[in-house]
Amino acid sequence: MAKIEFFRHSVDESDIERASEVLRSIFLTTGKTVDEFERDIAAYLGAQAAVGVTSCTAALHLSLLAWGIGPGDEVITTPMTFCATANAILQAGATPVFVDVEESSGNLNAELVERKITSRTRAIMPVHLYGYMCDMRRLRDIADKHKLIIIEDAAHCLEGARDGVRVGQLAEAACYSFYATKSITSGEGGAIGLHDPDKADLLRKLRSHGIDRTAADRYTAQYRHWDMSILGWKYNMDNIQAALLIGQLKRAEALRGRRNALAQRYETALAGVHGVRVHKTAPTAKHGRHLFTVLVSPEKRDGILHFLQENGVGVAVNYTAVHLLSYYRRHFGHKEGDFPMAEAIGSGTISLPLYPKLTDAEQDYVVAKVIEAVKR
Ligand SMILES: *Cc1c(COP(=O)(O)O)cnc(C)c1O
Repeated sequence: MAKIEFFRHSVDESDIERASEVLRSIFLTTGKTVDEFERDIAAYLGAQAAVGVTSCTAALHLSLLAWGIGPGDEVITTPMTFCATANAILQAGATPVFVDVEESSGNLNAELVERKITSRTRAIMPVHLYGYMCDMRRLRDIADKHKLIIIEDAAHCLEGARDGVRVGQLAEAACYSFYATKSITSGEGGAIGLHDPDKADLLRKLRSHGIDRTAADRYTAQYRHWDMSILGWKYNMDNIQAALLIGQLKRAEALRGRRNALAQRYETALAGVHGVRVHKTAPTAKHGRHLFTVLVSPEKRDGILHFLQENGVGVAVNYTAVHLLSYYRRHFGHKEGDFPMAEAIGSGTISLPLYPKLTDAEQDYVVAKVIEAVKR
């Protein structure tokens, strides 16, 4: 039987060689390889600065702290995401306020955002679901009108653009993930892209306990005493992670190109298949193509999921709506029916394999099995 993994990363021998060079050197933690990666990714994103951290969750958490968001503050976000988005808001001590998503894309519905703004609202945290950018122009207008900041959860969308704007361009900060299944990966890792150099300095302090010197400048020159003036966290990216990412970042556009071609092949092959729907995205947008999902009837979803697995096709569910996770039900009293669009996606979605190493033949097999599964 075929075995088609849900995901295979794109780390290659040159990345391994670069990481090996770091491992053979004396300095493994945050140092000049991290500096180099930060310069590269800031240039790639068109951002003024980038700060390397240990995860996107850390990036979101620190961004909230850097803009002074904490207890008593509300942050508007989407329930159609990985729980990290809302968890980061809780970790900062603030309250996540969910707004339902667009049926067509699964992205935060800008039409509904203003209704949830109160005197406590400080920020909007949109997620570019599956790699398709939210309507950032619209969200920026709303944020400006109500004096809110925007922190993008761009874990799916390093490469994306829409309506003439790049990810991160209209936000105070954009947070990226280099987790094991993301488009470029160091196993674990994250970064914040931003425009304000003072906030970048603050974020560099916050990622290392609030200490005012990095280990590199404490130990590589003459010993200098350090101080801790604010309370930070331990979230600094290390040189090994950065070394794995530098080459992948240079290949990010080519990798996206292959994923985009595969996603378009899925769309063509599944168009008109009874019982299968795909999300609608504007063809003019540059889609990050992080995940390819199909929507099937909720009654049949788990059956189809298991059939695909039994036939050697790796699958996932992205996502069960966050407000229905038991922690959120218990602490915020959320229940079925609160955010119907997010729930409809959550109960009908299946993610199919999508990564540059997926061959056309493997994809044809996946498509054949999906068609077989929905017919049963
Ligand atoms: C993966 C992911 C995260 C968390 O990323 P980590 O680097 O694992 O912390 C956050 N938000 C979304 C939408 C994600 O998919």
